[in-house]
Amino acid sequence: MQTETRVGFGYDVHRFGPNTYEQGLVRLCGVDIPHDQALQGHSDADVGMHALCDAIYGALADGDIGAHFPPSDPQWKGTESHVFLQHAAGLIEKAGGRLVNCDITLVCEQPKISPHRPAMRARLAELLGVAVARVAVKATTSEGLGFTGRQEGIAAQAVVSIEVPHGLDEDAAEAEALLAGGLLE
Ligand code: MG
Repeated sequence: MQTETRVGFGYDVHRFGPNTYEQGLVRLCGVDIPHDQALQGHSDADVGMHALCDAIYGALADGDIGAHFPPSDPQWKGTESHVFLQHAAGLIEKAGGRLVNCDITLVCEQPKISPHRPAMRARLAELLGVAVARVAVKATTSEGLGFTGRQEGIAAQAVVSIEVPHGLDEDAAEAEALLAGGLLE
C-alpha cells in the first residue's frame, strides 16, 4: 500500500483561575500536577492534550477540537480530555493511518514539567496506542515575558506526523462536495 506522510500543528492556551474540575491541580498531558492555581476551561483544561488533538485534526484536515466538541454544547462540560484525544486517534485509525510521532511543548514558568515528563509520555502513548519513544513532551519558560511569563496561563504547541494511505484526497473531495451541497456541517 502506498502511503504518504502528513504533518499537523496545534496550539492552545488556558488561563489560570477557578475551575469546576478540581482546585489545587493542573492536568497537563493527562497527568495531575499539584499547583497553587487551577487552569480554567470547559473541560479539564488539559492544554497539552488539546494542542495535540488539534495537531492530529490538522494533519487529517478535519476541523479542530472546537468543531468536534463545541464548548457551547453542555454535554462536553467537565469532559476529561482523554475523550478528545481518543476521538482524534480514532480518526487516524479510521483513515487507515498511523501516528508516526508527536512532539508537544508546554510553555509555563510553573509548575515544573520535567519531573512529570515520563508519566506524561506514558499516558499519551497509551491513549494513542503507540510506543513511548514516539511521544515527546518538552517544556520551556518564556523568561518572564508575556502572559505565560506573568503566570496568567499556560500555552502548548504540538506537532504530529502521521502516515496515511494515498487516496484520502478522493475522500476529502467527496466530503467537500457534500459540504458544498449543504449535506454536512
Ligand atoms: Mg483548550
